[in-house]
Amino acid sequence: MRLSQYFLPILKETPAEAQIVSHRYMLRAGLVRQASAGIYSWLPLGFRVLKNIEAIVRDEQNRAGAQELLMPTIQPAELWRESGRYDDYGKEMLRITDRHDRDMLFGPTNEELITDISRTSIRSYRQLPKMLYHIQWKFRDEVRPRFGVMRGREFLMKDTYSFDVDFAGAKRSYNKMFVAYLRTFARLGLKAIPMVAESGPIGGDMSHEFIVFAKTGESEVFCHRDLLEIAVPGDDVNYEGDLQPIVDRWTAPYATTGDKHDPEKGKALGDALVSARGIEVGHIFYFGSKYSKPMKATVVGPDGEDVAIEMGSYGIGVSRLVGAVIEASHDDAGIIWPDAVAPFAVGLINLKVDDAACTQVCDDVYGRLRAKGIAVLYDDRDDRAGAKFATMDLIGLPWQLVIGPRGIKAGQVEIKRRATGERQDLTLDAALAQIAG
Ligand code: ATP
Ligand code: MG
Repeated sequence: MRLSQYFLPILKETPAEAQIVSHRYMLRAGLVRQASAGIYSWLPLGFRVLKNIEAIVRDEQNRAGAQELLMPTIQPAELWRESGRYDDYGKEMLRITDRHDRDMLFGPTNEELITDISRTSIRSYRQLPKMLYHIQWKFRDEVRPRFGVMRGREFLMKDTYSFDVDFAGAKRSYNKMFVAYLRTFARLGLKAIPMVAESGPIGGDMSHEFIVFAKTGESEVFCHRDLLEIAVPGDDVNYEGDLQPIVDRWTAPYATTGDKHDPEKGKALGDALVSARGIEVGHIFYFGSKYSKPMKATVVGPDGEDVAIEMGSYGIGVSRLVGAVIEASHDDAGIIWPDAVAPFAVGLINLKVDDAACTQVCDDVYGRLRAKGIAVLYDDRDDRAGAKFATMDLIGLPWQLVIGPRGIKAGQVEIKRRATGERQDLTLDAALAQIAG
């Protein structure tokens, strides 16, 4: 993509309303634009990151055996009356009336809808287990929307629901999601620690929040230092095998969110206790028959008796993750995207667009990168070098390739790794080889 043609509305001034660094950079780098409190438009650069994160989340769900579907954003109130949550949910729920005066709502979550789907289609224990998920916008009328996409009112969530015939099955499903979450966040370049959590308005008892440490995080958390060093399960993890040892390894050390913290246990850990603030990027929980019972989602069990389906739900804050990645990876000059989520792999800087030879080389490099399938943002604008460097640093692409007349004469280009700031003068081929990895 040529920057001269790209829609990248960079802000010169730091927006006064943004209190945390990710929000500031998301506005300044033209990733999002606020439509109203807690509701954002995703501009091209931000949308690419959102889609990259979504793709990794999806890939790990699929590997774990979950199947993707898509439920609507608008739901009928009657399902929520059946579960008893229509009144319980309170003002966070956006209630809508259609032209026939029917009560509708913009979904804050999907337990009722998915339970309705399962009860009409799953009749026998032989159709279980199942894990179904979607990646869909949610609306919650948060009391205090803030920190940009971190606590929005409209936000993108991946939510998975598991269906099993008994507790042992439900635990297996829970473990699959536990492992899938460890892998997902690691692939996003994040260290996310599973911590024992309250299950909130959705209810249940087996519950972990996945927390990324950040000074600006909304959650207070406590954990054993050892958790920061455990290796995440690799590509060879077998989801059909016994995952309990992996889950046990991760849940044995003390780790809990603030509301579940036991100061005595914390004290007993001494120096090993980490007490910090964190961002909740995901939440998994088992809630048994909380919805299947009142909504009569039953299957015929092995002995011919009807049993309520055992369920769990598993959320990831996809749009919140864009902010969380920036909180975890930035410096004073701007964002530092991990390779896996970067909107473009390379920023190509033409230092002198009115120099025919220089532009010729840059155009050629641009073509070669694209031919290799490498996403490149080509700064072909007529602007000062300093301004171009500042923009590239702000938008945080992993590699910068800087090409000017002087280097060309010497047969060299400059390549800079955004994360380390390390610069090297290399031949063009050597630079391209490095970028291609
Ligand atoms: P929180 O305690 O932050 O309000 P929650 O317990 O209400 O979260 P869940 O219902 O478990 O969240 O939703 C699943 C995931 O969706 C959360 O782990 C979080 O990453 C994300 N999420 C929840 N609320 C918001 C929001 N207002 N804006 C952005 N992401 C959100
Ligand atoms: Mg909430």
